[in-house]
Amino acid sequence: MKRTKIVVTLGPASSSAEVIEGMILAGANVCRINFSHGSHENVLEQIKNIRAANKKLGAHAAILADLQGPKLRIGVVENNGIELVAGKEIIITTVECVGTVERVYITYPQFPKDVKAGENILIDDGKLLLTVLETNGKDEVKAVISHGGILSSKKGVNLPNTKISLPCLTTKDLEDLNFALIQNVDWVGLSFVRSAADIIELKYLIQKFDHNVRTKVVAKIEKPEAILDIDNIIKETDAIMVARGDLGVEVPMQEVPVIQKMLVRKCLEESKPVIIATQMMESMITNISPSRAEVNDVANSVMDGADAVMLSAETSVGNHPAKVVEAMTKIIEHVEKQSLIYNRDNAAPEVNIHNDRFISDSICYTAAKMAQRTKAAAIITMTHSGYTAFKLASHRPKADIFVFTDNYHILTTLSLVWGVKGFYYDKDISTDHTIADIKFILKKTGFVQSKDFIINIASVPLSEKGRSNMVKLSVVE
Ligand code: PEP
Repeated sequence: MKRTKIVVTLGPASSSAEVIEGMILAGANVCRINFSHGSHENVLEQIKNIRAANKKLGAHAAILADLQGPKLRIGVVENNGIELVAGKEIIITTVECVGTVERVYITYPQFPKDVKAGENILIDDGKLLLTVLETNGKDEVKAVISHGGILSSKKGVNLPNTKISLPCLTTKDLEDLNFALIQNVDWVGLSFVRSAADIIELKYLIQKFDHNVRTKVVAKIEKPEAILDIDNIIKETDAIMVARGDLGVEVPMQEVPVIQKMLVRKCLEESKPVIIATQMMESMITNISPSRAEVNDVANSVMDGADAVMLSAETSVGNHPAKVVEAMTKIIEHVEKQSLIYNRDNAAPEVNIHNDRFISDSICYTAAKMAQRTKAAAIITMTHSGYTAFKLASHRPKADIFVFTDNYHILTTLSLVWGVKGFYYDKDISTDHTIADIKFILKKTGFVQSKDFIINIASVPLSEKGRSNMVKLSVVE
């Protein structure tokens, strides 16, 4: 069983029920819907197809709704392409117009107020570089082209040195969020997070929508400000994404690998899932196999301890979405034969008896240690909130993690979490009965074998549906 999860981005190449099924069968665990592209009508169709594929395959693929956030863009340009020549000057205006070599439009009304002379303007993932000369503080900024090239319509803009005053959730994001919550998606991704306050605001909006909603939040880390506030962001969020595309433009590219390792380590310590994203298998947009460097990138992300690795254009517009997932699965499965990825000793619970999670955290830690010592085949847990699964997974046990829950939404949500395999289970006769029954189910379905040691985590008494407070070691008859 593959432990590291795969996130696939849906798009024109992969929105049909057949392609989604193919990707799930090849190892996809989470379907990402990118709200930067496509209408709500398209999104609805994608959600319907994901849920139909889950039903048909008995799978639990999660839905991640990725909000665009304050993404800055150039407007439409003449003939969909103009040549910016190094050394020449250009006006960037907030007054809408068709762009020419003299003047282009930017979708950021406060730009002339926020920017200062000397700051850099990166366009199209940093392929073009402009430097601000002066601003009129109202609607125009004069810049010099430092590194030129062809600028086509609607290209993204990054301003690594500018303190951007736009809100974290734009009007479009608020509409998309509302839509995603009505559809009861599992995860919402927030782009261009700058501080923990952005996550607090998003969580507040989710609760305001309906305080029973269990949709969780992924903070996309792609701004230098987010790195500065990373400890608070990780505390507030439910998961993070290392969004290396924009991150590698916003911070010097050579810093990204070290930042990736730092983010994975911090997330493991806090039991928060971490997704490594962007250009992982880029050459497979067209080719039938990845480059050797891409194989290394995926393998190293697995070795770093990522919960999930992500495919973007490879599956959204690529030529063979299921084949990319298949290749990624092969890399993950091979790396997971190495013992170095297991039993990370990063999260021994603080001995703080006043922490209300102290008992359940200690139970998870002890279960993982016990599994290591006894070479148990599986750790099995019941969960109502998913907390035990997140915590247990962060210890990265070699034993399989089987999670039983009576909540379908938790089942799909946990598809993002390293190593977790979920089962629907809604009987609650007694703890003894549940443990025996689950053991029977796992043996019958071939997930555990006779003579295997297994570890059960539970909350007793079962009827209270409380936090995990019991660990049991037994052998499969
Ligand atoms: C990224 O920048 O790496 C990223 C994942 O962002 P986007 O949502 O634009 O794909």
